[in-house]
Amino acid sequence: MSAVTLCGRTRIVLIRLSPTILQTPSRHVQYHTGKTTISPPRGRSRQIRIGNIDIVPWTTAGIESCVVVSLSIGQSKKLHMAFDMGYACQQSVKCNHVFISHGHMDHCSAIHQHASKRSLIGRPSAKYYLGSELVTPMKTIRENLNKISEFPFQADLTVAKPKDFIKLPGPYHVVPFKTIHRVPSMGFLVYKTNTHIKEEFSTCSNTVLKQLELRGEQVYYQTVTPELAYTGDTTFEVFSQPPIADLLKVKVLITECTYISTTKNVNEALTRERGHIHLHEIIRNPHIFADIEAVMLLHFSERYTAENIQDTIHTLCPVELKQKLYSACVYKEETCIVSY
Ligand SMILES: [Zn+2]
Repeated sequence: MSAVTLCGRTRIVLIRLSPTILQTPSRHVQYHTGKTTISPPRGRSRQIRIGNIDIVPWTTAGIESCVVVSLSIGQSKKLHMAFDMGYACQQSVKCNHVFISHGHMDHCSAIHQHASKRSLIGRPSAKYYLGSELVTPMKTIRENLNKISEFPFQADLTVAKPKDFIKLPGPYHVVPFKTIHRVPSMGFLVYKTNTHIKEEFSTCSNTVLKQLELRGEQVYYQTVTPELAYTGDTTFEVFSQPPIADLLKVKVLITECTYISTTKNVNEALTRERGHIHLHEIIRNPHIFADIEAVMLLHFSERYTAENIQDTIHTLCPVELKQKLYSACVYKEETCIVSY
């Protein structure tokens, strides 16, 4: 045996942009301290925890996008969902709920790959939430794939539109919102419903609380908080004129940032024309993101290296935004080659 290179298909680079380096697991991945708790990624998954939300971002503009988000639903149970399915990465297979932002291939072409992978391991079809314009073409694709496949599979396609209320397991629900792109598109807001005991009953035992409830007393009250938003592809207008106010109040915002510089003939006007966001638009408007706890930028153009992205953001980003900023990009293709 003369040489071994062992690694995953692709690496994801996650960069937390804040002053102090917490640890540097490899020369390409850096984690920094900040007010949000950060867990280092595990294995090939390159998962990161922001607050109590686990995120596996896997996106490159025009190539493939899939963001896996896992939330606790109590008693060590997790709710796994994916935003976009341009590549059915290993971590996405466990997702029972998949939200498709629009019909560009890098965001939806792996729906059937995802459905097929789940079918092969005996999992029921995930629910795929997508715009009405995509349902018939996707059904036709599935029918054709099933004609040539030895193992037919199902895909539960469900129409979603802005302002829908999509109930998820546990205390969570999703509301799609309109975004601005070259084709019909939407983003998704994840809400959490929290149940609290009213102040006047806060010292009561569980037994007493049950008795009070049986007597018809309103013991509890609920609050709903916007936890996370995923925009998919959009222009910056989604932030300057938000279609839903909660978009700018979420704990974690995951948004595209396709272009980061004005070199290589991409300026802000051209970015908008292509239906995308330029980094300059974000860094010029830190006040817009003032109420958001963490902002993850991804879906960078393949023309930029991880170092390009990190250096550009470090140099240009104002401190108040940098403190809450993460960037994630797929780093490079790697494979396992062994010669004997
Ligand atoms: Zn697109």
